[in-house]
Amino acid sequence: MLIQQKVAYINLNDRSISPQILSEDIIRKFIGGRGINSYLLYHHLAPGIDSLDAENVLIIGAGALTGMRGVTTARLTISGKSPESGLLGDANIGGHFGAALKKAGFSYLVISGVSPAPVYILVSEGKIALEDAKDLWGKDTIESGEFIKERYGKGAQSLTIGQAGERQVRFACVMHGKKNAAGRSGMGCLMGAKGIKAIVAMGDNGEISPAFPEEFKAYTKELYQKINDEFIIETFRNYGTAHLYDIINNTIGMGRAYNGLNSAFPENKDISPENLAENYYTGKSPCFSCGIACKHAYKIKEGPFAGTENEGPEYGTIGHFGPLLGIGRLEPILKINDLVNRYGLDVSSTANLIACAIELFQEGVIDKDTTGGIDLDWGEEKAVIELIEKIALREGFGDLLARGARELSKMWQGFSDKIAWGKYLPQSDPADLRYMKAYALGNAVATRGSDHLRSRPTWEAFNLPEEQLQEIYGGQVSSDYLSYEGKGRVIWWWESYAGLFDALGMCKLLAFHCLPGVFDFEVFANLIKWGIGLELSPQEVFEVGERITTVERMFIAREGVRREDDFPSERYFKPLKWTEGVDESLKDEKLDRECFDEMLNEYYQLHKWDVETGIPLPETVEKLGLGKEELTVQDAG
Ligand code: SF4
Repeated sequence: MLIQQKVAYINLNDRSISPQILSEDIIRKFIGGRGINSYLLYHHLAPGIDSLDAENVLIIGAGALTGMRGVTTARLTISGKSPESGLLGDANIGGHFGAALKKAGFSYLVISGVSPAPVYILVSEGKIALEDAKDLWGKDTIESGEFIKERYGKGAQSLTIGQAGERQVRFACVMHGKKNAAGRSGMGCLMGAKGIKAIVAMGDNGEISPAFPEEFKAYTKELYQKINDEFIIETFRNYGTAHLYDIINNTIGMGRAYNGLNSAFPENKDISPENLAENYYTGKSPCFSCGIACKHAYKIKEGPFAGTENEGPEYGTIGHFGPLLGIGRLEPILKINDLVNRYGLDVSSTANLIACAIELFQEGVIDKDTTGGIDLDWGEEKAVIELIEKIALREGFGDLLARGARELSKMWQGFSDKIAWGKYLPQSDPADLRYMKAYALGNAVATRGSDHLRSRPTWEAFNLPEEQLQEIYGGQVSSDYLSYEGKGRVIWWWESYAGLFDALGMCKLLAFHCLPGVFDFEVFANLIKWGIGLELSPQEVFEVGERITTVERMFIAREGVRREDDFPSERYFKPLKWTEGVDESLKDEKLDRECFDEMLNEYYQLHKWDVETGIPLPETVEKLGLGKEELTVQDAG
């Protein structure tokens, strides 16, 4: 028996609400979560509209397994046309909201129109109401979540925007709890533009039952046994993702420091995971049904930031607000983490824009007249804190930065050369792309813009035997991460692999950090069978991943994205500008354009997209069943 997935179409213009049930055909093709979101976005949005137009839709979509007691089955994807890039927007979030939404009766909310006055959307016991949000407007994200719990009780879970989303900062994010962030591509801006301050799910219908409860439970137990044997999982439990900073910066040596002018940052003792764990961690805050619990709470006990409390910070926050800005002290980073979470600002875009502004200021392209008197220099934590506040509240120089990278590239000469970005989105990961070639390709072709969460081929760093790589990827792949050989194939495969985690609603921390053999397409097929009651072969499951990437590619292709948009930033094709402190063997490493071109050809050919343009071929669209007429929803009455 197939587990149904219900979608509510909410039109804020006329306040109409229409519940529907997704057809089996759609579920078979996209499974859930990001997959269904991307399909709905492609088919419900006219090409070429302005992302802040009322016609744009905000889609909230829980994974197919989200809400079941599975392995990290907590995740939810928020999608829409991105106000930041003007292209595909989506962001994934953990915590407890996804499970609560499912328990409250819906897997998806598709929201169109604009509310004339701020509202919050209340989902409870299979019903949806639009409520007046004037009491919430102006509060930060954490205050908003607490206010909602006071009003509806502890079981009420919410997605909220902060002051940044209210003011339509282009890279505002959607938050849940203290630090769960749907960070990328400005979904908080879109929510603010629609006049939605929060979405509340009461989730009091009980836990979601899988299609085959006994089998699903036994399989979950089996998977957790395998996960617990993985060498790195205990480290996540102890240090969160903060320890990745150590691996990427200090072990592999591919961090980004000083806006990526260097990849070495020797002033790193204070921002170590050990310092964080020993002196600041106060407890844990795991997502729904997560037996790993990588999320830690922290508090600063003394000094100028005494009393600051939040959760995290993640590796990305440490890397972006640490070395990327030349900051080597942990406490300012903990303060900044609290600020961006409260205001609801995306970490990667905020930090990359500030880093870029510092470099431009240092080179004299912009001066104090532009910054409103702020002196911009590396390691100036006070200036960074001031700028974050100004961005969120859209004051002075902050208002300029709040317009986002796409707009700034038209205003400041040399901006495009100084920012690491792709498809108008600043790079999500504070890692230098010169070294791991597959990693560079994955970032460059990512359908939502420069992004490590679409593929992130972590196994590249493990030096696995080539016979094993051949078995995994189905073709010749070099085990040398500096090599280009077979890396188009690696990314083609990883995109499907990561896509399935998003479709199922599972945490990609497992995708990226478990060694081969824990998860594969056969495991996904079993989870789909026991979880939602669909029989698919591992090959058919792989095709689900291809379908997700291809429908997203169709979305951006009709907005004008072509092959020339699938290259990393120009600076990665040259050696580092500063090299002091960099591992000698990597000192002159850079991307080679001809080799990158070949890697891109291989990637397109495997996807069966046109090699000249990067547009999916008509026969590919037909084979994957991506024509509109085949994908319909049934009225749920
Ligand atoms: S591993 Fe961490 S981020 Fe992933 S589901 Fe668990 S607590 Fe959440």
